Amino acid sequence: MTLPQPRPSILSIEPYVGGESKIPGVNRVVKLSSNEGAFGPPPGAVEAMAAAAREMHRYPDGGATALRRAIGARFGLDPERIVCGNGSDELIQHLILAYGGEGTELVMSAHGFIMYDISGRYAGCRVIKAPERNLTADVDAMLAAVGPRTKLVFLANPNNPTGAMLPAAEVARLRNGLREDILLVLDAAYAEYVTDPAYDPGVALVEAGTNTVMTRTFSKIFGLGGARLGWAYAPAPVADILNRVRGPFNVNAAALAAGIAALAEPGWVERSVAHNEAWRARLAEGLRAAGITVHPSHGNFVLADFGTPARAKAADAALRGRGLIVRAMGAYGLPQALRITVGQAEECGMVIEALSAFMRDAPSHG
Ligand SMILES: *Cc1c(COP(=O)(O)O)cnc(C)c1O
Repeated sequence: MTLPQPRPSILSIEPYVGGESKIPGVNRVVKLSSNEGAFGPPPGAVEAMAAAAREMHRYPDGGATALRRAIGARFGLDPERIVCGNGSDELIQHLILAYGGEGTELVMSAHGFIMYDISGRYAGCRVIKAPERNLTADVDAMLAAVGPRTKLVFLANPNNPTGAMLPAAEVARLRNGLREDILLVLDAAYAEYVTDPAYDPGVALVEAGTNTVMTRTFSKIFGLGGARLGWAYAPAPVADILNRVRGPFNVNAAALAAGIAALAEPGWVERSVAHNEAWRARLAEGLRAAGITVHPSHGNFVLADFGTPARAKAADAALRGRGLIVRAMGAYGLPQALRITVGQAEECGMVIEALSAFMRDAPSHG
């Protein structure tokens, strides 16, 4: 029997495993596995989605005009160069399918966001992972990984899962070292959380040329992961390509309404950033005090390094025993680590307590 066969590169994809949300036999779990904001969805967005439900027989505005205007007004950007997507993942995939493909190469950093790898293989690209330094993207290594077939370079800044951030000057150095025909995609999913003045999400580079794109999301600080809403800020020719290939109604009506309302929620971002700054620091301190290595993070999560895969696994089991779900990092080549989202104050306290007890009970040989 001859089965229909996909293109060979597709068989090399390991399916994406999302953060778990259930533990068998446990009623109340604390989900700290997907970097969803600490405060749930903005109340105004919930109301907007309920109102939108009554109009659900209507197709959405395929051009996302009102949302693009709201994003443009909020971030000081030209709405004409904003393209909205069904999560930023969708836009990442379209960029790779449109600019990559068989016979081309995509360069990312060793522990970069895994969707670049998955979508790259889907498109048929050879995915090249440049080594990092101290779990931080290394511009020189990325430039060295570029070859004549390279069409795309991806940088998550800050990066998930490491939390590392490259200052604007380093990102500019990356851009300046790339050929003009290479598309640089700056994935700024955590941009709103960053408080370091050396950071820039990439707007200036997008506007300075025709070959850099910035992607953003409503899934993290805006608490709308379930609505699937992301956006790209792109030079006009790239925005034009995205508008040709995306589904005509790729963003649903509830997501459009929720996004506009989330941007208008008074004080939402300020409160989220203040909470994140304070509790990311306390979480990191608490874990370090317990003897765990915690990498510096610019996002709403920390990467906790337990030294060996076995200890990370045991720590994960100990957390689960208390109803706490975090993210195992084997798929990212970091099996010795767990990624922990900064949740509410009480949730951070629970993690610190659980891992402190774990470290007391399971001394260094584990
Ligand atoms: C969460 C995340 C995304 C995905 O965002 P969606 O808009 O939900 O698709 C993209 N990039 C990075 C680095 C992320 O952590």
